Amino acid sequence: MSTTTEALVLSSLNAPFLLQPLTLSPPLPHEVLLRITACGLCHTDLSLQSGVFPTDFPSIAGHEGSGVVLQVGSAVQRVKEGDHVLLSFASCLSCEYCKDDHPAGCTTFVERNFGRERHPSVGSLGTATAADGSEVKGTFFGQSSFARHAVVQESSCVKVPEGTDLVTLAPLGCGLQTGSGAVLNTLRCSPTVSPKNNSILITGLGAVGMAALFAAVYLKLGTIIVVDVLPSKLAMAKGFGAHHVLDGKDPEVVKKIKELTGGLGVKWAVEATGNTKVLEMGFKALSNFGHLATCGTPGPGPLPPYQIHDFVNESKTFSGVAEGDSNPPEFIPFLMKLYEEGHFPVDKISKTFPVEQFDDAVAAMKSGDVIKPIILF
Ligand SMILES: [Zn+2]
Ligand SMILES: [Zn+2]
Repeated sequence: MSTTTEALVLSSLNAPFLLQPLTLSPPLPHEVLLRITACGLCHTDLSLQSGVFPTDFPSIAGHEGSGVVLQVGSAVQRVKEGDHVLLSFASCLSCEYCKDDHPAGCTTFVERNFGRERHPSVGSLGTATAADGSEVKGTFFGQSSFARHAVVQESSCVKVPEGTDLVTLAPLGCGLQTGSGAVLNTLRCSPTVSPKNNSILITGLGAVGMAALFAAVYLKLGTIIVVDVLPSKLAMAKGFGAHHVLDGKDPEVVKKIKELTGGLGVKWAVEATGNTKVLEMGFKALSNFGHLATCGTPGPGPLPPYQIHDFVNESKTFSGVAEGDSNPPEFIPFLMKLYEEGHFPVDKISKTFPVEQFDDAVAAMKSGDVIKPIILF
């Protein structure tokens, strides 16, 4: 049976997000119909609007959703009717990377998360239809959860216990697992791995950078340096346990990072701005044998702003990281545990907005007043 609902629809490039009535098709065998509770707002949603991530229109964004299962497709195994879920990215669950607990490396990651691929058997058929009968693109990150209801991919669902705070924890499935996963899964930072220089640099204090900071503080790394251009964010980071905060506009920033690390530079770096100038700064601030992981992307086009020659001479490593290389059914419950223990204070970086005030949420994130807006449906 189809479901009528409302969703925030982008009608065309640079159009506003408008709440509109829609009809959702029933779930296919590997899909789940959800009543959406809340959804975090992420810069990637705005990238759909601005065209940095190309997409077809009209389109529904939203990829940090939470909700309650209303109906499951015939082949769904992860969840059942009535289950509470946090949503994350989609994967095929069957390729070598998925089977090896690295679904962020899924061979169909791009198609399933950005290409809106629902299932090969239905071709380009979408999940949602507008009042005039035209198709509206859903399945963004397997979910398109800027909506009161959504038909989502089973692979995007993480079952959580009843009583879980589905509002505060809604955003765990994207930026927050990306930043913390970069530290815990990709860089595998640890004071014991590098006792003499267990220093980390985090550039960019959006949700990704803040989550990287939470993870670095949780691991008790010896020197935690953060760089941003907003004094309010730097002050916040200090409150969360950053040892040193530096102004990204300071031309001496690399020199200062070297001074703070005994002249060596940092052992690890997490880049979360997507700005190539910041990436270049992070590379220069890295110690020999250091490892820089970037979660940020400037979009297709720009090349890395440093030379292979320098990489070789200084024995440095560079990694790109999608979704913190996390396996959501394992990693999201782990982040929930850290939150309960006080190590992952997502409640202190977020603010809720009713869906009717969506534009205020966007403005608050752009100005830096709120790190992670959460939209209530
Ligand atoms: Zn896969
Ligand atoms: Zn995101």
